[in-house]
Amino acid sequence: MKAMVLDAPNSSFIKKEVPDPAPDPGEAVAKVLSCGSGLTIQHVKMGRTPATFPRIIGHEITGEIVEIGQGVTSLRIGDPVTIHFYLFCGYCKKCLSGYEPLCENIHGFVGTTQDGGYAEYIKLPARNFIVLPEGLDHKKDAAAIGVVTDALATPYKVVSRANIKPGETVAVFGAGGGLGLHQVMMAKWAGARVIAVDIDSSKFEACISAGADETINPKDVNIVEAIRDLTGGGVDVAIDYVSSTFTVEAAIETLGPHGRMVTLGGAGEDFKANSKTLLLQEQSILGSRYVTRAQIIETLELCARGEVWPIVSLIKSLEDVENVHELVEQGKITGRAAVLID
Ligand SMILES: [Zn+2]
Repeated sequence: MKAMVLDAPNSSFIKKEVPDPAPDPGEAVAKVLSCGSGLTIQHVKMGRTPATFPRIIGHEITGEIVEIGQGVTSLRIGDPVTIHFYLFCGYCKKCLSGYEPLCENIHGFVGTTQDGGYAEYIKLPARNFIVLPEGLDHKKDAAAIGVVTDALATPYKVVSRANIKPGETVAVFGAGGGLGLHQVMMAKWAGARVIAVDIDSSKFEACISAGADETINPKDVNIVEAIRDLTGGGVDVAIDYVSSTFTVEAAIETLGPHGRMVTLGGAGEDFKANSKTLLLQEQSILGSRYVTRAQIIETLELCARGEVWPIVSLIKSLEDVENVHELVEQGKITGRAAVLID
């Protein structure tokens, strides 16, 4: 099959003919129609996230099951599918409780320890494939459907993690990024007033289109004072897609009574918070990690009903993926980019 392969970290994609994958017992193979090109996999390409090489990356996939291994009863040939990004075990207590991202026996991720979607076919454990709900056209909307599984489902999960209720106020830090923009959309869907925070004002038009009621650039103002002024005392929920010391601390300081802060950015830095304020204001500090299989299905169902739809601003062919990733690295993609495999 045709594939775009990375031979080493921080290298260019190389177009190669590699053997077609064949399913072992418990596995299945899907023909890949589309694969999203987000920052998560750009980190793998650049060597900022560990992976083994040579590697085919990509996990925001729309596909169609073409081959089924021995013992697989959950899939049929021709099923339209997407996938879960984590290689979870499916039998530990966390997996059985519906917390696949916290699996006790996790053996890596699609596209870091096992080959992913920048190829004609993908082989995975059958439990990683998710059959699409009714009402989606997986051929016509392949690029959008693949992107849902991470870029839209992750923000969907945050809505329940933070228990966002209609009428509440939500600030999104890093709102101009691929996930941030979809968080603006999902917070609006949940009925919230949404404040988009980003250091790149050129992203604000897209934030407003996605549902932001207000936009603030921390380079222009004191972000905590500006949000407190706008909200008359603080937000109900602050969501941080950066996770630098500055953004986490600012997000916490903008919380009002019973405020909830959720952090899920890549920076992973330490921060300070005042325990007395947390006590007196009954505030919560939360982390959120990817999604469950059920949340992917729920998000796809929202799309099938037309309640939300991902923002895919650039769709290219697989052969153009190097160029797409340059734009991702430069932060020039609004929402998400995706490649089609034909
Ligand atoms: Zn497990």
